[in-house]
Amino acid sequence: MRFCNKYSGSRGNLTLIDDGKTRLLIDCGGGIRSIKAALKKEALSIDDIGGVLITHEHTDHISALNSFVRANKKAKIYVHQKGYNALTVRVPKAEDRIVCFEAPFVVDSYFVEFYPCSHDASFCCGYKVTEEKGMSVASVTDTGKVDSSLIEFFKGCHTVLIESNHDEIMLKQGNYPYPLKRRILGDSGHLSNLQAGEVLSTLPDINVKNAFLAHLSLENNTEEIAFSTALSSLSKVGAKEGKDINLFIARQFCGGESIIVKK
Ligand SMILES: [Zn+2]
Ligand SMILES: [Zn+2]
Repeated sequence: MRFCNKYSGSRGNLTLIDDGKTRLLIDCGGGIRSIKAALKKEALSIDDIGGVLITHEHTDHISALNSFVRANKKAKIYVHQKGYNALTVRVPKAEDRIVCFEAPFVVDSYFVEFYPCSHDASFCCGYKVTEEKGMSVASVTDTGKVDSSLIEFFKGCHTVLIESNHDEIMLKQGNYPYPLKRRILGDSGHLSNLQAGEVLSTLPDINVKNAFLAHLSLENNTEEIAFSTALSSLSKVGAKEGKDINLFIARQFCGGESIIVKK
């Protein structure tokens, strides 16, 4: 199986999971042209996608969904029951393609589990996808707090993608209006670099091999700060990047490291 984040951030989110038989997307953000271009780099087209796992109804996660369902006539759109209404209001054309879930489910040979995020959407979730041979990947963004259930969710994963949205000082000192700062910093907002670090520091112990830092704010973060905060969180538990775990940045533009997930 390969896991490939094509782009990540408030301008659009797209992740590809591919076991060679079924290709799934997590979210459908950006524009349809960006999706086509991103898939082309993986030698795929829109028609090759068999399903889309929707995290929540915010624009950066669903902006291309109407165009997607026009271009791809077969893929099912998976959304949690609690997110159904908010999604169909925004993407009416997708309605007859939507499959609602309330419990873990199966898509072809994948087993899909979800993590309920703490976010100001009708419902937002991260996903863990396990392929036939038992290898798992997970992606969790758009959540405001870290607790043991999140770390539990990552257990058994080979590769994870975790939100590392902002540097708290940059956000507090930056130009965002106060209510927006409060929203991002709150329990229903986005994870800071330090909160991502809290999660990262637990991953070597549970044998996660690769971690992507994702949904980086273009205004309140930099790749360098996110990466160095992650490194120092790892060093606090005596873990080394490149040895105990590999770190990657999921970029808003020109992203796309493909991780091959195998034993
Ligand atoms: Zn988002
Ligand atoms: Zn969101």
